[in-house]
Amino acid sequence: MSIVYLNGEYLPMQEAKISPMDRGFLFGDGIYEVIPSYDGKLVGFAPHIQRLNEGLQLIGINCSREQQEWREICEQLIEKNDGLNLGIYLHISRGADTKRFHAYPEDLPATVYAFAFEIPAASIADKSKAKTYKVSTTEDLRWQRCNIKSTALLGNVMHFQHGFSRGYNETILFNNNNEMTEGSACNAYIVKNGMVITPPLDNQILPGITRFMLLDILSRHSSIKVEERIVTMDEVFNADEVWLTSSSKEIAPVVEIDGSPVGNGKIGDLWLAAQTLYSAHKADY
Ligand code: PMP
Repeated sequence: MSIVYLNGEYLPMQEAKISPMDRGFLFGDGIYEVIPSYDGKLVGFAPHIQRLNEGLQLIGINCSREQQEWREICEQLIEKNDGLNLGIYLHISRGADTKRFHAYPEDLPATVYAFAFEIPAASIADKSKAKTYKVSTTEDLRWQRCNIKSTALLGNVMHFQHGFSRGYNETILFNNNNEMTEGSACNAYIVKNGMVITPPLDNQILPGITRFMLLDILSRHSSIKVEERIVTMDEVFNADEVWLTSSSKEIAPVVEIDGSPVGNGKIGDLWLAAQTLYSAHKADY
């Protein structure tokens, strides 16, 4: 039985009830986070909460809590739910109004909902054990505030479905200049001539916590060179390696894009080096 958190209470999932007038339901008016945990230990907790607070501030939801209170909710959910590897989903919506009106209501208590769900075991830095990804591509038709981790995910859902319905694991998106933005639920990278290249942080992509940790780990603990710059789709199709990152995937090697192999169609050596470093240092965050 799954125990969830809703507005201060822990209760069985089927007993958790939210008003149909909640602006999260009516407008997708909210912010969320997914924090991974392995063997009970949260990974990247502080940067996840920092992004959560920044998102709340960007959309003007008043829900200030100490970092320790968020940690308590995450740890309670890990304790109350079975599973070695759990993702903690935190969702804060602007709250339940009495009417449907676009303007932000004042002084509405935010709705805070959280649950734990099983995630795959942490990636193993071993080419023979890694899950490989085959992806499709499509034009990024989402809004221009993709840096906000909004619960309004219809654009991402439709883009993910584009690949999924064709038998792919993900969809890599490109803007109308034919530049890669990100995946429908992950950040994206190419490797060319030993260099890791990923689009810069701007309004077109989510500032992924895995991205932040990976780039920080590579710069602190390796001599692998990273460039944050525009990546064209031509470069994507001619890359030696392509990777995706997210909290539940860690670093995912892409071996096929739109039916063509990436590089030699096998997992690359830089993936192995990067995932080895990530596995060794992720617990520092
Ligand atoms: N971009 C998008 C659109 C995402 O939904 C996610 C998370 N699933 C990411 C990037 C990766 O973010 P993180 O590393 O914080 O999980």
